[in-house]
Amino acid sequence: MEVCSSWWHRWVPLLPALVDAGADLLLGSACVVCGLPGRVLCPGCRAALPLAAEIAWPSPTPSGLASPYATGPYEGALKAMVVGHKERGLLGLTRPLGDLLAVSVAASVDPEVPLVLVPVPSRPAAVRARGHDPTLAMARRAARVLRPDRDVVVARLLRTRSGVADQAGLDADERHANLAGSMAIRAGVARRLAGRRADVVVCDDVITTGATAREAQRALEAAGVPVSAVGAVAATVRRHAIGHKVPNSRPSLSRPPGTE
Ligand SMILES: [Zn+2]
Repeated sequence: MEVCSSWWHRWVPLLPALVDAGADLLLGSACVVCGLPGRVLCPGCRAALPLAAEIAWPSPTPSGLASPYATGPYEGALKAMVVGHKERGLLGLTRPLGDLLAVSVAASVDPEVPLVLVPVPSRPAAVRARGHDPTLAMARRAARVLRPDRDVVVARLLRTRSGVADQAGLDADERHANLAGSMAIRAGVARRLAGRRADVVVCDDVITTGATAREAQRALEAAGVPVSAVGAVAATVRRHAIGHKVPNSRPSLSRPPGTE
């Protein structure tokens, strides 16, 4: 028994590393943040993820945008995870990204009120090309995380209309023009929610200019569905003007307009 017990104590702490090594052997995977062979997000990088969310106004803020929340700037680990999930189809990142989205959503609304999470719709061609819908997957995971404490549903209330170009490479004005009128509500789903008292939170991976979230909000509100907040994993950091001294090199999320 003594031999058995010491064997156990020696090997059990090594199990996570062995699992990672096995995953690497089988799948050739590595942590998207630090490159450590093994899981797509190593335990160390996962433990360093943010545990709180802040309000993150884009600059300039689209008029009337519901309060947007994010867990951190769109760089480093958060950027590596979002890109890995969205562009490389690393589905092992759905859980940690959904957990982060849940943190943002929880920060944005009253915990007593039932919640409806509305993922920003992806273009059908993008979903086909990627083989999955990253924002929908994250919203579903976020709902599962939040559900023990509250009434939460994911409602795919929105769809994209045809003729919308990919947003990458467009500036703020071009994004607003590209997106104006680009989303519509799925009437059948919306009817099921009519009359329910709930906070509706628009969910996205990244808040960049706020144009996508604002268009989602416009489409929902046009159908009589008020939006309480916007929840995202990350927000693009507002860059200071060239020549402006940045007092602290650590990037932070933007402040609400008018509160410098
Ligand atoms: Zn790592």
